[in-house]
Amino acid sequence: MPTIRLKNVVKNYGGDTNAVENLDLTINDGDFMCLLGPSGCGKTTTVRMIAGLENITAGSIQIGDRMVDEPNAQTYVTPEQRDVGMVFQNYALWPHLSVADNVDYGLKLRKMSKTDRDARVGEITGKLSIAKYRDRYPSQLSGGQQQRVALARMLAVNPKLMLLDEPLSNLDSRLRLEMRAELKRIHAEFDATVVFVTHDQWEAMTLATHVAVMFEGVLQQVGSPMDIYDRPVNRFVASFLGVPPMNFVEMGEKSPQAASAAEFLAGRVEDIEGIGSIGIRPEALTVERPNPVRSSGQFVLAGRVESLMPTGGSWTVETAVGSQRVYATALQLGDLQPGDRIELVAPAASVHVFDLNDQRVRV
Ligand code: ATP
Repeated sequence: MPTIRLKNVVKNYGGDTNAVENLDLTINDGDFMCLLGPSGCGKTTTVRMIAGLENITAGSIQIGDRMVDEPNAQTYVTPEQRDVGMVFQNYALWPHLSVADNVDYGLKLRKMSKTDRDARVGEITGKLSIAKYRDRYPSQLSGGQQQRVALARMLAVNPKLMLLDEPLSNLDSRLRLEMRAELKRIHAEFDATVVFVTHDQWEAMTLATHVAVMFEGVLQQVGSPMDIYDRPVNRFVASFLGVPPMNFVEMGEKSPQAASAAEFLAGRVEDIEGIGSIGIRPEALTVERPNPVRSSGQFVLAGRVESLMPTGGSWTVETAVGSQRVYATALQLGDLQPGDRIELVAPAASVHVFDLNDQRVRV
């Protein structure tokens, strides 16, 4: 049932610009799809349109073989009839119901027998380790516990399609980590299709089978997490993923680094004039002592170490290259000191090339 097809979906809230622009996205059965992007890019709007909490302005949304929203055909299926499970940022638990009754709520609506419901509530609260709080009220629970109750309430009815909008946003970093593992397990165990909204790239990278990156209402790229990371289609996607972010050398500037980049690109691309920038991820750069003999299979930037920043387990080496700061990730520093003259070296295969419109160029 849960293959979701969004075709040319537009959402306009009444202003000059569309919150979501011509969105084409297919989420296949069993996918864990993360919608990723900065604040205001249209992630929540998209998931709410799939849920049926927002009407679409144009286009169509199909869930399974059923068209659920198509303004042109005057088709609209209500959220209740879409048979999806949802957990949104504010968990919206019933404050006057105990944990057990919150989890039981959806089962009651489905008119299951009391014996079956009790068994299901016992099973699901056990799985999410909240059985011991079954008689408490939401106000007597921590944020993380409430979060798990919200998930339990959704999972109790065994939805094949789950829509989650920043469901871990109120948790501290340890609980977030635990809940991510929990979600990953639930996805596998329940054989579910998940659409998950986040602005946190780590969350997306660790959870998703597929990531859809959005910016200003426009879908930029869909692919596996490693696909998006290793082969970003444009500079926005390239710079949105990765910490520290990708380093860029602007070809239009008269700088020693632009000269190094031009030398590197010569023979690799036909039209150097059409190249706007190149990008190298910090972890692709190794910090080396100056060496006049370099292979042509390497891209080299010469500079001076500005600072060495520990990040726990590795170091961020900040280097002045011309008037620019370039960041490299190093696992070990040896005897490296601020002020040292160094070379930052990247293998050719890890250099990303972008055209004047910031689109990826294959080299
Ligand atoms: P965030 O991560 O901050 O939640 P988001 O990517 O989920 O952001 P949306 O909430 O989908 O983004 O918002 C997309 C755009 O639509 C924004 O410009 C927002 O201001 C606008 N918008 C969202 N909801 C409404 C609304 N009910 N009425 C008018 N404009 C809205």
